Amino acid sequence: MERCPCCNARLAGAQFCPRCQADLGSVLGSEQFARHCLSKALQCWLADDRQLTNLALAKSIFLKQTPLALVFRDFIIRQQCENVLGLLEKKKYPEAKESLSLMRDLHPDDKFLTQLYRFTKYLLVKDIIKFSSCKPSESSMSSNPDSLPSSGISNC
Ligand SMILES: [Zn+2]
Repeated sequence: MERCPCCNARLAGAQFCPRCQADLGSVLGSEQFARHCLSKALQCWLADDRQLTNLALAKSIFLKQTPLALVFRDFIIRQQCENVLGLLEKKKYPEAKESLSLMRDLHPDDKFLTQLYRFTKYLLVKDIIKFSSCKPSESSMSSNPDSLPSSGISNC
């Protein structure tokens, strides 16, 4: 934080504003914790832990929207979207839905993520209905020529 959020005076790292004397200790603490969370998100991403990456990054962005955190978020979403499309291709709908749910925590206002999440839910429900309507007895009740009425034979 370079300027006081109350009076816009230059701070130069001071906890108290030199002009309005506002105590900025908790604000500075939040900034520091946001940096810590961003660093944690990067570590989790390197360790290939998507869930913790998203949680730490979401917390960091909630505390402070730095350009670095926002670029990292966009990168993570693009990378995870490719993964989701792969899951949809393999018809792994529950996994795709869970992955999208995590991504939406990271960027709740993203229209594309919302649409993709709804589409995945649609595919999941459609798959459940298709699976539950496939009764094994239906295949055994296939058309049997002996069971058909023999009305045409009497015309011979
Ligand atoms: Zn001030």
